[in-house]
Amino acid sequence: MLWRTLLEAQVAIGNYYRPRAELLEIQRRKLRSTVRYAFDNVPLYHRWFRDRGMVPDDVNGLSDLARLPILTRDEIRKSFPGDITVRGAPVGMTLTTSGTTSSGPLRVQRGVRYSDVLLALQIRKMWVGGVRPWWKTPLFQVQGPDIPFNRYTPAVVMWRLMFRSFALHVVTLRPKRIDLRAGRVRTAALEFYAYRPQVVQMPPTFLRRVGYMLRDEGKSLDMKLVFAGNEPLTRACRRELMDLYRCDVLDIYGATELGILGYECRAHRGIHLNSDYFAFELTRGDGPASEGESSDVVVTTLENEAMPILRYRLEDMVVVGGDEKCDCGSSLPRLARVEGRRKSRLVAADGALIPTSYVTESLEGRYGIRDYQVVQRKGDAILLRLRKEDDTKENLAALSGFFSQLLGARQSVETEEWDLEEMPVKYLAVSTDLASGD
Ligand SMILES: [Zn+2]
Repeated sequence: MLWRTLLEAQVAIGNYYRPRAELLEIQRRKLRSTVRYAFDNVPLYHRWFRDRGMVPDDVNGLSDLARLPILTRDEIRKSFPGDITVRGAPVGMTLTTSGTTSSGPLRVQRGVRYSDVLLALQIRKMWVGGVRPWWKTPLFQVQGPDIPFNRYTPAVVMWRLMFRSFALHVVTLRPKRIDLRAGRVRTAALEFYAYRPQVVQMPPTFLRRVGYMLRDEGKSLDMKLVFAGNEPLTRACRRELMDLYRCDVLDIYGATELGILGYECRAHRGIHLNSDYFAFELTRGDGPASEGESSDVVVTTLENEAMPILRYRLEDMVVVGGDEKCDCGSSLPRLARVEGRRKSRLVAADGALIPTSYVTESLEGRYGIRDYQVVQRKGDAILLRLRKEDDTKENLAALSGFFSQLLGARQSVETEEWDLEEMPVKYLAVSTDLASGD
C-alpha cells in the first residue's frame, strides 16, 4: 500500500544516517524475529533447528547464524513452494530468476509487505542518488532469450494494486517493456530513445551498446543519472557511460531472489549494503572476511513474510569495503566491488582462481576491448568472442600473451566474430568449462 511504502521509505532514509551501533541493533532485533517467524512457519527451517537441537532463542546475532546450514539454490528449487514458503501469507509477487546463473532459473515469492519494503528501498536508492521526483524515470523491463517477463493476471493485479501493494502497481503498470531477443538490439535502442529517459537502471554493457548506437545516429538524451545493475561494472565501462550519457553512474547490487541489496552513493566509496533490511555474512573460508579481501556473500532476508530466506549463498564473489563512516554521512557497511560469479572465475595452471573482474578490467582498461566473451575451454585453450573491429592480428597476439601470463601456461586463443545484434542483453563476460573446485 502506498502509505506503507512511504512510511517505510521515511524510516529507511532515517536509518541511512544512523550510527553503526544503532544499525547493528536494528539488524539484531529484526534477525531475532525473522528466525522465530521462520521456525514457526516454514517447514524447512523448522527441521534445520530441530535436527540440530536448536531453538530460535539460540540465534541472538549474526555470528550465531553460522550454526545453521547454508541454503542452496537446489534446496530452494526442491522445497518451493510447500516446504519453504509460509502457508497463508499474502503473496505480492512470484518471480522467476534469469537463467544466466549456472544452475538454471529459480522461483521465489515476495510477500505483499515485503514488496512494499523493497519499493521503499528503491526510493532510498533514488534519494541517495539525488534523483528528483520530476525526472523521467521509466522502469524498463528487459526481455532476452533467457529472461522472461514476469507475468501477472490482470484481474489479480487490479485487485491487488487497489487494496494491497503499491509496489505491485509500480512493477505491473509502469514498466516499459523492451524486447531484446537476438537481432533486435538496434530496434531496442530506438525504443529506448523514444522514451527519453532521464534516469535508468540497466545492465551497463547493454547501456553502453545503446549509447554508441545512439551516438552513431546523432541522437542524444538528457540523462541525469545511470544506475548500473545486473552485472559487475568495470572502470572502463563506467567512464564510457559517463561520457556517452554525460551524467554520473552509480553501481547497484541486487539479486532477483532477494531484491535490492545495496547501491553506491554519490561519494563513490563502494556499495552501501542495506544491512538494516538484510543480514549479510561476508566470509572467506570459515571466518569473516576483512576489508579488501575477496569474499562470499551469504544473505538472510529480514522482512520477507511470504518466503523468508535464511543463509542463502549468492553466486557472486565480492570485495569487502571500508568500515568507517562514508563521506555521504552513512554508516551502512560497504562492498568495495563485485568481482563476478564464483563459477565464472578462470582456473590458472596452478589451480588459482582468477575473478571475472580482473579479466574484464584488463581487457577493457588495458586493451580497450568491449562487448566480448571469454570462454576457458581447456587448461590451455581460450575462446574469445569479439566484435569485428576488435578481432585483429595485433589484438590476438597481445591477448594470447595476456592469457598465457595470467594462467601460467601457454594458451591457444581462438577468436570468433560476435555481431552486436546477436549478443544477448545479459551474459557472462567470462566463463570456464573447467571444474573450479567448489
Ligand atoms: Zn556513501
